[in-house]
Amino acid sequence: TPEETRQLLLSRIRDVADYPEPGVMFKDITPLLADPGAFRALTTALADDCRRMGATKIVGLEARGFILAAPVAVTAGIGFIPVRKAGKLPGATLSQSYELEYGTAEVEVHAEDLAAGDRVAVIDDVLATGGTALAAVELIRRAGAEVAGVSVLMELGFLDGRARLEKMLHGAPLGAL
Ligand code: AMP
Repeated sequence: TPEETRQLLLSRIRDVADYPEPGVMFKDITPLLADPGAFRALTTALADDCRRMGATKIVGLEARGFILAAPVAVTAGIGFIPVRKAGKLPGATLSQSYELEYGTAEVEVHAEDLAAGDRVAVIDDVLATGGTALAAVELIRRAGAEVAGVSVLMELGFLDGRARLEKMLHGAPLGAL
């Protein structure tokens, strides 16, 4: 059942206190990735999300989002588009900077990878403040494409990431375990 799948996946996520810095509870997905049954169940669930959204492309967010989004794209039979940290993509890019707790970060996509008519699903492992996913949403729209929805493995409920992101999704779904 979906609830059993959810419990299986949650049981494969390890909470690591005070990593990478004091006060942060890090959600470590490496036990899930090492369990092929759990990894397959997650891939299937995310691919179903993408089909329901009517997605024509899948954006994965560097770095852990790549690990999840790539098998989902193959399973769903649609293209995988990497959104990378600045300076890694060789072609013409669109870039978007966003606020971090201290300072700013910048993500990029190849401009030619997205176009008008594309419906794009965004996949990442963890939604925290929502800043990273929001930057991806901006990139997709600036490329002329439409955001079909955002799917993450888990969201940190005590941050306002969901509220912040939903305001910018205009009704597109935000899925999490
Ligand atoms: P944010 O932009 O604040 O929503 O942060 C999301 C990004 O940072 C995602 O790509 C996550 O992989 C990573 N991240 C933030 N907080 C955590 C956490 N507590 N555990 C694991 N990854 C996290």
